[in-house]
Amino acid sequence: MDIAVPEYILDIAPYKPGKPIEELEREYGIAGSIKLASNENPLGPSPLAVEAINDVLHNLHRYPDGRGFTLIDKIRSKFGVSARNIILGNGSDEIIGLLARTLLTPGDVVILPQPSFLMYDIMVKSVGAVPCYVPLKKLAIDLESIRDRVTLQTKMIFLCNPNNPTGMILHERELSDFLNALPASVVVVIDEAYIEFVRDPDCAKGLDYLDSGKAVVTLRTFSKAYGLAGLRIGYGIMPIEVAELLNRIRPPFNASLPAQAGAAAALGDDAFLKKTLSLIHAGIDELQTALDRLGVAYFSTQANFFMIDTKKDADTVFEDMLRKGVIVRSMASYGFENYIRINAGRHEENRRFIEVLEDVL
Ligand code: PMP
Repeated sequence: MDIAVPEYILDIAPYKPGKPIEELEREYGIAGSIKLASNENPLGPSPLAVEAINDVLHNLHRYPDGRGFTLIDKIRSKFGVSARNIILGNGSDEIIGLLARTLLTPGDVVILPQPSFLMYDIMVKSVGAVPCYVPLKKLAIDLESIRDRVTLQTKMIFLCNPNNPTGMILHERELSDFLNALPASVVVVIDEAYIEFVRDPDCAKGLDYLDSGKAVVTLRTFSKAYGLAGLRIGYGIMPIEVAELLNRIRPPFNASLPAQAGAAAALGDDAFLKKTLSLIHAGIDELQTALDRLGVAYFSTQANFFMIDTKKDADTVFEDMLRKGVIVRSMASYGFENYIRINAGRHEENRRFIEVLEDVL
């Protein structure tokens, strides 16, 4: 082939998702394995969502509602915002891409905490914008250093709260001071994929700044606390002016019929959310108590996952655990050579993880 490819596309390393359990079991000739690698909900999907999806299957020959009326109406009333503030996405991933394609031009500078969720980097580079990486400080997003790096060229800043992969949060006061000092021309994207799991009451929330006059975009997802990662549905809440810009290029049917129905039901499934949170919180506590007992160092978290310092090459630990049927995430590709990241699982899964870790270490 002799096609001209933009340099900035050649500069992108593809996102490496955690492999599906079935594929790993096939490759390694194992069965009955457990996966704690992708921060998924160990309880499964919200049962009300599954029921609602079943109810719309006979209608799959129809296009979904391109405005997403019912789901947007539920989100609107849950958060006390206007329907015009809300954009649905095929996962919050898609909204990260929409933001980049709508608001960035080649050469624009976008500040990214490092390490953080890898899709920000990929989407920023995909439109020829230029990432400016600001290292974490004690594993948390360093807002002071980010502020020092803002220039006239800075168009957007991504903040991940709690941060993936470190599980640390932004506090109310630090975020409000940060936003106050920021020029109104900078778009601040606050990715709250894991916010439902946070136990610290002092955690900042992007929605508090919706009417602040700054372009603050809050991203949320149904993939984690609501157990719908496979359905692909997330949303963004942002100033109406920004939402209207994104709507110029948003594909009209980006949120599928089952996704809209499932998510609308999940949003009202308080019992499932409550059960999920108590399982995750108990799981985190159980895992960390067991690690204390083993003398293995780990990092505190406000999310449904946390990092463990194995004091060994993380890729090797990952492989060794895999062979024993436990799938974790090596943090080597995030620059943490000896760390693995796991999410809290069900009690049996947590116990099995600890047994296998003890064995491998
Ligand atoms: N943001 C963060 C911080 C994530 O960890 C993930 C999922 N890994 C996403 C966004 C994407 O979520 P979704 O499934 O809604 O695309």
